[in-house]
Amino acid sequence: MPPPKPSEPAWWFAFRGNQLLLHEENSSVRLPRLWDFGELQLSAEGKQHYLGRLSGHPCYTIEIPPETNPPKGMAFLGLRQVYERLEEDLFWIAGRAVQIIDWDRTHCFCGRCGLPLNLRETERAKECPQCGLLYFPRLAPAVIVLVERGEKLLMARSRHFAPGVYSVLAGFVEPGETLEEAVEREVFEETAIRIKDIRYFGSQPWPFPHSLMIGFTATYEGGEISINDEEIEAAGWFTADHLPGRPGKISIARRLIEWFITKQKKSAFDPRGGELT
Ligand SMILES: [Zn+2]
Repeated sequence: MPPPKPSEPAWWFAFRGNQLLLHEENSSVRLPRLWDFGELQLSAEGKQHYLGRLSGHPCYTIEIPPETNPPKGMAFLGLRQVYERLEEDLFWIAGRAVQIIDWDRTHCFCGRCGLPLNLRETERAKECPQCGLLYFPRLAPAVIVLVERGEKLLMARSRHFAPGVYSVLAGFVEPGETLEEAVEREVFEETAIRIKDIRYFGSQPWPFPHSLMIGFTATYEGGEISINDEEIEAAGWFTADHLPGRPGKISIARRLIEWFITKQKKSAFDPRGGELT
């Protein structure tokens, strides 16, 4: 619940579409901190949503109409453009904020009755006044996996990647599937490789537009690479010292690849095979 009266300025995550409003000077960016969003004299489109507090400071998100120009000294920037330019804490809250704005924008009417939905006060949900159906912010779980085969790892490239960039395999979880089943299926569908020893690695919210990436490692069990060319255009086994272009630092894919490189470096110095702790 938002504080009843502001006792200090709040962080404002204002979005025009998926672009965040920021103060921009040379190459540095800064999130607006304001007593009231009205100080910027921009007409705001939807309702504002309270996000919670960061180190005690209240945080809000709000939608700005698409035709709005940024005030002097400010700019609307895509989230990928501001990664590493904005403090990490604020960046990931911006990722939460853009998903709440998107949910608000795309959940206006009940899918069953067609009636306008009401915002619930006690939780982040919308409710149909007629049938009571609840609508929560959307989250699409996706698995991502680094497959090892001795000193090599499996990487593939999708048509959407920048030229030369390869990554580890990923895909959405289907209804009724465990995460481990999704990992096995994705790797097999995309490359015809069978895997074993699937282990949890870590997770990351991915607000493009509303995924939760769940990372795993696995080892090769069998098969030869045969790509499904509807999904990917190339795949191969790579060693740590001959890697193709890697995905951006923002991604859990990159963290998985860095983990593999570190492990390989350690094993190069350790005849027992890199199980140093
Ligand atoms: Zn309804």
